[in-house]
Amino acid sequence: MDKILEQLPQMAKEKHAENKKFFGKLKKRPPKNLDYLMQELHHEEFERTDCLECANCCKTTGPLFTKADIERISKFFRQKPQAFIDDYLRIDEENDYVLQSLPCPFLGADNYCSIYDVRPKACREFPHTDRKKFQQISNLTLKNVAICPAAFNIVEAMKAKINLR
Ligand code: SF4
Ligand code: SF4
Repeated sequence: MDKILEQLPQMAKEKHAENKKFFGKLKKRPPKNLDYLMQELHHEEFERTDCLECANCCKTTGPLFTKADIERISKFFRQKPQAFIDDYLRIDEENDYVLQSLPCPFLGADNYCSIYDVRPKACREFPHTDRKKFQQISNLTLKNVAICPAAFNIVEAMKAKINLR
């Protein structure tokens, strides 16, 4: 896995133009069964992928924290929401709460998440490859393929499976 993660940014860079073109077409003419197909590709990929061997998302890009996330996690720590914010979060350029530092402070050396049951919604949903109307998050996916080997493989499988000529 380490080797794949090392090579992933370069592999994603090489595929960027091709992926951009594909997603441009997908947005204009999404196949009728796209939601179903994405569920299938997502599940096939995550049967093969062990996130505990990777954790690259937790190491290199943090989630954003919604108000509900902050309330739930601070309660877990028996902290006031503001104390949790002061300890771990900052506001980014887009006015969202994000982690002050990376890797995520809740990631263990064994790649387990110490707040797994109450983790942010964005962590539960990453890399968003099973979401409905997947064509609407193509810009995000273009970035995620450089971070997440599973997302990279799913996009490659999409290109092989969906004919958009
Ligand atoms: S909260 Fe947990 S799942 Fe989310 S980035 Fe941190 S370690 Fe990873
Ligand atoms: S979601 Fe992707 S980047 Fe995160 S641990 Fe799993 S394979 Fe790695």
